[in-house]
Amino acid sequence: MPSATHPPVIVSTSWDDDSASGLKIAELLSARGLPGTFYVPTWRLGEGSVFSGSDLRALSANGFEIGAHTISHKILTELELPELTREVAGCKRILQQILGKEVTTFCYPKGRFNARVVQEVERAGYRGARSTQILFSGATFPPYEMPTTVQAYPHHRSNYVRNLIRLGAISALVKSMPDLISFDNWLQLGKSLFDRVLRDGGTWHLYGHPWEIEKLNLWSQVKEMLDYVSRRESVIYLNNGEILGRVNPRREDDGEKIVGSRERSLVN
Ligand SMILES: [Zn+2]
Repeated sequence: MPSATHPPVIVSTSWDDDSASGLKIAELLSARGLPGTFYVPTWRLGEGSVFSGSDLRALSANGFEIGAHTISHKILTELELPELTREVAGCKRILQQILGKEVTTFCYPKGRFNARVVQEVERAGYRGARSTQILFSGATFPPYEMPTTVQAYPHHRSNYVRNLIRLGAISALVKSMPDLISFDNWLQLGKSLFDRVLRDGGTWHLYGHPWEIEKLNLWSQVKEMLDYVSRRESVIYLNNGEILGRVNPRREDDGEKIVGSRERSLVN
């Protein structure tokens, strides 16, 4: 049972790219009452096995969050400013037109960002952005560097260590050491990190690529992971945007409007 003294335990999931196998993920989440944020590039919507605009509207109507993932999934750190602006702000406009509501969260293609990219994401009006850092289980983080806990992907143990060293996330590395030493596979790592968050409080955030889950046939592992973290009495289940709302509250949340009139009209 949640108590006044126990720090909050938050669970979130997010799913990247434009594959319509995201709809299968959404079914699994819905069946378990779990939240999800889907980060979608906008350039191929409706083509082949890619999400269509009506898929995105259906996901949104079913309580899932749609987040922006650029227009064409280019590595943002490699772009000149005009193209960077177009990729970051353009996809927000397109998704908002499709959904008829504001899109507040962003996700960096391949997890690549720098100070200039963050500045553009902030300027475009996003509340925060998800990275591809894993093994995070804390309560708070810089909103434009939103980390995750575990990826639905069969990484080798050394990949986890490399990921954290590359990101300079030494405290996460030290904290995760016991889990990495006993590491067997991503599913078992996800469970033990969830157990830790359940005990100590913090955030447990699963992310993955639906197309990859389909390609590697990870469905039964994903189901087992989702079963493990769902329907827990003491857990607060939030999508990425709701977590960012807690980490990075807007001035308008206190009654002051900072959203421009053009954006406001799209919300209505
Ligand atoms: Zn991606």
